[in-house]
Formats: sequence, C-alpha cells, structure tokens
Amino acid sequence: MHIGNLRTALFAYLFAKSQNGKFILRIEDTDQGRYVEGAVDVIYETLRTAGLIHDEGPDIGGEYGPYVQSERKGIYRKYAEELVAKGEAYYCFCQKGEKESESMEGYDRHCRNLSKEEVEAQLAAGKPYVIRQRIPLDGTTSWNDMVYGEISVENSTLDDQVLLKSDGMPTYNFANVVDDHLMNITHIIRGSEYLSSNPKYLLLYEAFGWEKPQYIHLPIINGKNPDGSISKLSKRHGAVSFQALVEQGYLPEGIVNYIALLGWSPKTDQEIFSMDELIEQFSVAGVHKSPAVFDYQKLGWVDGQHITGMDPEKFQHDALPYAHIDGTFLEPKWTKLATLLQSRITKYSDIPEKIAFLLQMPEYDIDLYIHKKNKSTIETSAVILSRAIECLTALEDWSEESLLASMTDLAGQTGLKLGPLTWPVRIALSGLAATPGGAIDILFLLGKEESLKRLNAGLVLTSKEN
Ligand code: ZN
Repeated sequence: MHIGNLRTALFAYLFAKSQNGKFILRIEDTDQGRYVEGAVDVIYETLRTAGLIHDEGPDIGGEYGPYVQSERKGIYRKYAEELVAKGEAYYCFCQKGEKESESMEGYDRHCRNLSKEEVEAQLAAGKPYVIRQRIPLDGTTSWNDMVYGEISVENSTLDDQVLLKSDGMPTYNFANVVDDHLMNITHIIRGSEYLSSNPKYLLLYEAFGWEKPQYIHLPIINGKNPDGSISKLSKRHGAVSFQALVEQGYLPEGIVNYIALLGWSPKTDQEIFSMDELIEQFSVAGVHKSPAVFDYQKLGWVDGQHITGMDPEKFQHDALPYAHIDGTFLEPKWTKLATLLQSRITKYSDIPEKIAFLLQMPEYDIDLYIHKKNKSTIETSAVILSRAIECLTALEDWSEESLLASMTDLAGQTGLKLGPLTWPVRIALSGLAATPGGAIDILFLLGKEESLKRLNAGLVLTSKEN
C-alpha cells in the first residue's frame, strides 16, 4: 500500500476515533480491469500491522454489508434507473467511454437528448448501453471543504460521466456515492487529486435529494529530489509502500507516527506519538493545504525515537534477525550488543553497518589517534597502547566490571582520566571515530584474543610513525 493511501486511511481512522465514530473498511473493486491478485490481502495486512482496526468490513461484517462492491452489484442499477426516471441521467448507446480511464476524454453528449421513443427502440433491439449522469450545462457547484474551504466549479467543465457500465457494474465514481449514502458515511477523507471529481459527486447527491457528507481533502505528498526541488513522491525518492518500509526495518508505529505528520500539525511541539495520543490530539483544524514533503531523514529520527522507547526484550527479539550474527562470536553477546544499539539506530537495517567493525577490523587512518580535547597524539597513543596491552594481557576475568576496574587502575597509574586513556584504545579496537559503546564495551564484545590482536596492530602502526 502506497504511503499516500495509508496516510488517507490513517487520517480517516484518527478522525473517526477522535469523534467516537466508526471506521469502516469497504473494498471498491468495480473496475475489474484493474483487479490485482492479492491486493485485498495487502490492504488487510497493512491496516492490521499499522494498527488501523476497522469496526465493520468484509471480514467481520456489520450493519451495512456486504462491504465488497462487486458483491453489491445488484444494488446500483436501481439507483441509476432512478436517476434516469428523474431526468438526471440517460441511456447512452455509443459504446464509448466504457473503460473508466476513458471517461475523462470528453463525451460529445450524443445520446443526451434522445427521445423516449428512440431510447425504447434501442433497448427493445437489445443494444448495449451505459447510463450517464446528466450534468447541468450551466451554473456552478460549490462546497465548503473542511481543509480547502469554499470551492466552486463551473458545471460546464464537467463531463457526463458514466455511472453504470454496459456489464451492469457501476463506475467507482457512482458506486462510492451510492454506498456512502447507504452506509451513512458522514465524512469523506480523500487525497486532493479527487478535488476535481468532487462536483460530480455533489451533483449526484443533489440529483438523488440526499444529504451531502462533509469533505476533507488532504494535501499531496511530495518527495525531495537530489537537486533540492520537490515532485510527487515516487519510487525514485525511496521506498514508498508501507510494506517496503517495514521490510527495511522501520517500526510500524514509527511509520504511522511519521505519516501522521504529513499534512497535519499538532497544537503543541510534540512530534513522537503513540496511536492513542494521535487519536487524542488529531483535529481537522490541524490539516493543511500545502503539499507535505516526505523526508526520509525525519522518518528515521521519528522511528529511532520509537526504537529507543521500546521494551528492551522486544527489541532484542525483533532486531536479532537483522544483525546476521548467527554462529559468530557476537551471537552469545547479543543482549549486551542490543543494549548498545537500541538508542543508536533509526531502523533495524542500520544494524549490520553499525556492527561491521566488530566482525571485521576496518582499515583506518592513523590520524584518528590525534584528538585535541583528549590531548591524544600518535606518540602518546603508542605509549598508552603499550601499557594497555601489558595490563590486559595479565587480566584473567574478561567481564565488563573487571575491564573497567583494570582500565581505571591504569588511568590512575598514568595520571590520565579514563576518557583520554581509552581514546587510543577505542581507535585501535574499532578504527572508527564514533562507535556504539566505548572502549570497555568493545573490549568486552571482542573478547580477549581479538582485542589484544587489534591493540597490538595499533601499537605497531603508531610506533612505526615515531
Ligand atoms: Zn451516447
């Protein structure tokens, strides 16, 4: 499911829940030409994983079923014919605009003024037909959108769209209006790409004499291009489906939190929300018209906050498959490693890169030993590494407590604080300026043999320079 669609579902869910309303799942499958195998399962799976639990729907039933439009096929003809009888729709025998994609191409209204006799003759001859909406030729259609405000559209710009196709199936544009009415839908939340179709929906409500719902159109979601410009979010900007983001190791709650902020602003500065907090704080007044920009960095930050706040045991369990440490020396130390990682990643798939230096010592620049604040130079590093090797070689208990005691003791002997002392040790162990955890953590994780091997290599490197 594209995150734009999920965002629409999320806002509908938040709005319904914040108003003590019901969130209903209806499957709109009348355009059989666009049927995709498995797509309905993806909808169920996505809504469930994202925590958008529907109150009524095809799988659980409810007061207004069936909830699959193809199973409601028998319902729509009656309504289409009611409009024909009222003069608000007409039979068209042209066999044009059958496919929904063609309906915007502008029908010439050839059959709009066929006489009753002509229509009856064609029907009697068994000629296939569609039923089209008779759009007023003049005047305007207006509504007060809850986000976009007052909108007026000239009726002359609207086409006589197909309502019922020759196979008896309604078009999406017709079925959604009939079903929204029959299911007592009070608020319609959609992407702003539907703004231009909305007058046609409103004219249908008017033609039937039905009470109109409230409309909430959501701003489009753009992506950032490499040159700094923005354009409609697509795959070239990154993963755009909920599943793809979950597969990359973002938490569903992190994704949901982030997309809630795409087009909606809370009243406070709060940025990290649970679903319950979103329900509590969501209001349509906070939805804006201006396009939202999907920012993967911000998503990572939001997700990282959710990861940091997770139950540590759940983190250890869920993150482990991403670490790929089965059968390595790190596997038995996963609990310790996970503790270091939990507050330092934005998504699970960051883990392999974060721990790569533990599994294999990287090549590194000798200048990493130079650190002004720690008064560390290559010369002092060689001396410290030599003392640390001596001290750690003698150490038998390789526990974190014992490692800390040993390094603290060495700091005392050399008249250094622990930070300046462990700077060259950490560089020699990791080859990195920044690591998850400090020197003691890394010594513990690497174990005695590997630690001493790396420290000795560091000593050779720094001594060579002198
Ligand atoms: Zn026609």
